Amino acid sequence: MRRIGAHVSAAGGVENTPLNAAKIGAKAFALFTKNQRRWQAAPLTESSIRKFIANCEQVGIDRRYVLPHDSYLINLGHPDPDALLRSREAFIDEMQRCQQLGLSLLNFHPGSHLRKIDETHCIRLISDSINMALEKTEGVTAVIENTAGQGSNIGHRFEQIAAIIDGVEDKSRIGVCLDTCHTFAAGYDLSNAAGCAHTFDRFDQLIGLDYLKAMHLNGSKTPLGSRVDRHHSLQQGEMGTAAFEFIMNHPATDEIPMVLETIDDTIWKDEIRWLYSLEQ
Ligand SMILES: [Zn+2]
Ligand SMILES: [Zn+2]
Repeated sequence: MRRIGAHVSAAGGVENTPLNAAKIGAKAFALFTKNQRRWQAAPLTESSIRKFIANCEQVGIDRRYVLPHDSYLINLGHPDPDALLRSREAFIDEMQRCQQLGLSLLNFHPGSHLRKIDETHCIRLISDSINMALEKTEGVTAVIENTAGQGSNIGHRFEQIAAIIDGVEDKSRIGVCLDTCHTFAAGYDLSNAAGCAHTFDRFDQLIGLDYLKAMHLNGSKTPLGSRVDRHHSLQQGEMGTAAFEFIMNHPATDEIPMVLETIDDTIWKDEIRWLYSLEQ
């Protein structure tokens, strides 16, 4: 079964996210387990954790299909040692929060070299950061999200993601989340069936489809190869809809969380229903 949902609001506490997901007919969802724009966060309370688990059960969403997203402040490849340490500590905290909630995935952006170190060095820092976090936690897989390649962000080329994975010791706890908008903006064509097939083939050759643990389904406001990250609704923007038909029928996307980060949350319910209608 395909597990479609959206990145839902955690306002009022993480325990509200399963309820928000159920309202839009989701079978998967994403959330922030803390404020994504702040370093500090109060620990999750016992009551919040208990209610989160109970609410997932109540709405019938298996926690395997929940895809938390880490804070936007974290840069696991930061060139400055003090800033790197801060990011690593924050990332471990994010992983621990997932573990407390009984979640098995944490989606994150790999990092940026900020034009202060070279790409290879940055990639090695990212792999080391992941190794440290995996060592300090149990049962949570670190899921690298591919990026649009804006600024000095690493992770827009499949080769870079493969190199990060290469440096990770425990290969059983590393995966990839492919974001359709980022993929397209990074220059991988998803605007027609042949382009989609070629892009997935490249992913399989360079990374391996076994590592595909999640997807973000988004339209793109910017054209192919723009390297500018601007999400759009699924049926609008520069990418067209061929990718969604392809993804909804690809064997690698079965039983992984696929979440919308599209710009109009008032149509999420319709977008989810439309995606399911594409399954053959
Ligand atoms: Zn993201
Ligand atoms: Zn994304």
